[in-house]
Amino acid sequence: MKIYMMTDLEGVAGVTDFENRTIDTHDNHETRMRMRRLLTGEVNAAIDGLFKAGATQVIVNDGHGAGYTIDFEQLDSRAQIIHGHERPVWLPLLDNTCSATLLIGAHAKASSPPATAYHTMSRSIKDWSINGVSFGEMGLQALIAGHFGVPTIYVSGDTHACREIGDLIPGIVTTAVKRGLSQRSAVSWAPQKAREMIHTDVQRALAQRDEIKPLRFDPPLIFRDERYDETWTKPSNNPDIRVIDHNTREIQADDIPDLLHTLYGYPKDYCVPSLADETG
Ligand SMILES: [Zn+2]
Repeated sequence: MKIYMMTDLEGVAGVTDFENRTIDTHDNHETRMRMRRLLTGEVNAAIDGLFKAGATQVIVNDGHGAGYTIDFEQLDSRAQIIHGHERPVWLPLLDNTCSATLLIGAHAKASSPPATAYHTMSRSIKDWSINGVSFGEMGLQALIAGHFGVPTIYVSGDTHACREIGDLIPGIVTTAVKRGLSQRSAVSWAPQKAREMIHTDVQRALAQRDEIKPLRFDPPLIFRDERYDETWTKPSNNPDIRVIDHNTREIQADDIPDLLHTLYGYPKDYCVPSLADETG
């Protein structure tokens, strides 16, 4: 049973702010190293829980920021990790050979105070929706998995992130490792307690995976992309893109890979066959 684990940083217990990758002070270095350790501890707790619950292969996607946040040397030796820049697609190796996906360290979507570090991708996005249903990064990841028929069965993050994904995916198991008090504060469980909660809940999620449906929307998909700033001042040349006003555009797509092709230029089928072949 192959499990695909997506990871982020802002939803980890003890992380109360965005990572700053440009300041080169000792203080910032220490803060970033602590964030790495906290994330890696939660990831390893989840990996162990997955193997205890019957997983035979776990692929971890180091998904935050520049893609090297998880402390590679401390990673559970049973897992493989996808990391680094300039990936062919956002979630390489995720396809219909995976039995389930989960997400560790998730954060709530843009415009959702008082969630810790709430945002969607860049901080210019105010809201994303498809066919009228608002979602953020967690939702898009679950939709990519859903395209391949793979259910997203578990999320850890703050209370707000857990509620957000629970509204999108009925029956999903979540662990709130902290409660967001503002975009830059939280009440966190201590690291050991957060890891124990994740370890237990991940096993419950895997046991219940057949009851959780892959996330999908009926085509045609109308993706609405709303920005804080005036981003689109001219009509688009692409017939699939409709500029509604300077802050808002809509993209019509047949499915999620088609949408991601228009948004990010990914391959139309989203597949990277040579990579998939190697991991088996
Ligand atoms: Zn992140």
